[in-house]
Amino acid sequence: MIRRSALAALVALTIGGAAACTDSGQADEGFGPGAAGIGDPYFPTYGNGGYDVKDYALVLRYDPGSDRLEGTATITATATQNLSRFNLDFRGPEVSAVTVDGAAAAEQKREADELVVTPAAGLRKDSTFTTVVTYGGVPQPITSPELGTGGWLATPTGAIALGQPESASSWYPVNDHPRDKATFALEMTVPNGTSALSNGAPGEKTEKDGWTTWRWRESAPMASYLSTVVIGDFRVTTGSHQGKPIVTAVDNTLAKDSNADKAMARTGEVADFLATQFGPYPFDAYGGVVVVDNRIRYALETQSRPVYSDSFFSSSTSEWVVAHELAHQWFGDSVSIGAWRDIWLNEGFATYAEWLWAEHDEGVPVRTSFDRAYETIRWEDPTFDPGTSGLFGNSVYIRGGLTVHALREEVGDDSFFRILKEWTAQKRNANATTEEFIALAERISGKPLREFLMAWLTSKTPPPKPGD
Ligand SMILES: [Zn+2]
Repeated sequence: MIRRSALAALVALTIGGAAACTDSGQADEGFGPGAAGIGDPYFPTYGNGGYDVKDYALVLRYDPGSDRLEGTATITATATQNLSRFNLDFRGPEVSAVTVDGAAAAEQKREADELVVTPAAGLRKDSTFTTVVTYGGVPQPITSPELGTGGWLATPTGAIALGQPESASSWYPVNDHPRDKATFALEMTVPNGTSALSNGAPGEKTEKDGWTTWRWRESAPMASYLSTVVIGDFRVTTGSHQGKPIVTAVDNTLAKDSNADKAMARTGEVADFLATQFGPYPFDAYGGVVVVDNRIRYALETQSRPVYSDSFFSSSTSEWVVAHELAHQWFGDSVSIGAWRDIWLNEGFATYAEWLWAEHDEGVPVRTSFDRAYETIRWEDPTFDPGTSGLFGNSVYIRGGLTVHALREEVGDDSFFRILKEWTAQKRNANATTEEFIALAERISGKPLREFLMAWLTSKTPPPKPGD
């Protein structure tokens, strides 16, 4: 992301031989409820324990006239323990039915921002199970005094679902934490003439009785905050880039051939440049969506198709924001954090990509960007483990970029770019930590770097500039 301003009760029903609790009994086998949070120290209720989602398949209909969203979410998951009951994060509209493996849930109830499901039979560890949630109503945004407004936002012509660190739970039931990445498919039915843009490759678009169904499939595992849907009146451009689909869209209230259109048209070029720095582009589609909405004053790296506020495109040299969000396709989207305290692994590299792009496109040396940024930092604020209030602060972004460049000067270009490319290859579609990054940098460079990097990430006084 970048902001514009800155920058059981176990129900032991036994049905034939399929029951999980016939032999020694579920209690003996340690069946129990999954945790209500995945274990992130910053956000104890985010995500859930007891299972690992493989795929979300959403079949939804949205009526911009009534703001009503309705349909089903099919969630395929594997139990990571003997599970008597599990939670999904869900702040969306009313749930009318829940089934697990085709059988109606013994109980489903809403508790705060969670949907708590007790399946008719316990779920054995390592078994794959499918949950279908049917729901409908008017979704609401997620508002946090510290983190702003995100989630489902109704607009005059549609809706935008967007936000970090949470947004997905406002419109579908989800294990809402980047530690549980899953593939994602969306079928969104909207009135004819309205666009519905989402992640991944486009599928067949069909029309029936005045409604159009748009289909999207993200085939690489995705952190839930990177899922999006943008519904409304858009200029949609569809093409092919590097043999993959590229879909960009610009709000139709912006003049044709606006700066936003021109920046979106450079999406493939920016991605190709970043691939020379970071390794192969990690996903099977490209794109971007420009929205006009005064509640969204940021851009977010939603997977394969970032969403940008139009406010970034007031000048003709705004591709830096495209470089930032596309860099996240490697750093954040393909290689995802497993805990929010590591967010500099996303934002530090995305900031660094802005500097690389400025050098490539405008001839501003990276070292010049580094020297300028070095003067702006409040060194009291740490980059690693910044706390929830520092999650989107300058230290995460700019000091993160400084750290990346300091590493480059310390180990030299050859080792540096090998570290980046090996990192994005080894951790592709996975989760990563700061510790793992340091270990890889040490291995490839052959240098002890822990103290050096931790000083750049956490020292309260400025580390000496390289070469000084
Ligand atoms: Zn960012």
